[in-house]
Amino acid sequence: MDTFLTLTELLAVLKENNIVLEKKLGQNFLIDRNVRDKILSFADITRKDIVVEIGPGLGALTGVIAEKCGTVYAVEKDRKIAEILKNRLKNCSHVHIINNDFLKLDEQFFSSLKEKVKITGNLPYSVASLILFKLIELKMFWNFALVMIPEDVALKIMAIPGDKNFNHMSVFFSVFTNCSICYRIPGSVFFPVPDVKSVVMKITPKEKLEYQIKDEKLFLETVPKIFVHRRKNILNVLSSSFRIDKKDILAIIQHLQIEPSMRSHQIEINKIIKLVEILS
Ligand code: SAM
Repeated sequence: MDTFLTLTELLAVLKENNIVLEKKLGQNFLIDRNVRDKILSFADITRKDIVVEIGPGLGALTGVIAEKCGTVYAVEKDRKIAEILKNRLKNCSHVHIINNDFLKLDEQFFSSLKEKVKITGNLPYSVASLILFKLIELKMFWNFALVMIPEDVALKIMAIPGDKNFNHMSVFFSVFTNCSICYRIPGSVFFPVPDVKSVVMKITPKEKLEYQIKDEKLFLETVPKIFVHRRKNILNVLSSSFRIDKKDILAIIQHLQIEPSMRSHQIEINKIIKLVEILS
């Protein structure tokens, strides 16, 4: 059952239910069916798959995903919107609308599904980076993600050392995943029109890591601290973030052949990994 709504239908549903869309929840709904079909053409979903959709809204993607896969868990934070979607899909017993904040879902939810899932979603712009970080933490539970995200977030994820956009997210996505941009989307296909352009990105966790990460949890906690003060040189950043005397930091970075005047975004990934091991 296709649950897509045209702009006129969407406005009618919002009015009927007294819903005012909230910017802080990134509520920009897809209103172009052709673009929706194009996006889903990259999804590679089969009847065997369990799909977890993040932020289904009123169902622009959900109904069609449900037609293609085995089971859908659609996680929507907005209570009223989740209720409406639940009602629209009440005859689809393999679709479960979960009224929750995706950022609050725990590992137990994913481990209860018993197999790796596919992730989809037109992510709420306001928390897209936080959701992507959570996907990295949960990467053992999914084998493919197709997400729509703001272009500037995608540029950070795909940046390499030396790019001004290179940051902790670039490190995590490069170390743990393969990702590519498959489609660029103008703001005009959403209601309301967002301030940013979007891209559709395909992400797959790497089966074999190029770099060995000794303690993943510590790695995820520590790398952001290296990127906190982008304008400061690395000597000052590390000394203030890790509260270590500059003399000791200098010895560490010289050992790793990192120039004290470098900025965090200029440091290669293998050196960041070694820095984390030494500093933590
Ligand atoms: N999938 C729909 C579409 O394409 O039209 C809606 C996409 S809209 C960009 C993002 C949706 O995510 C909204 O429905 C919003 O209420 C929901 N949302 C916002 N923050 C969320 C969160 N932390 N967890 C789950 N859903 C969230």
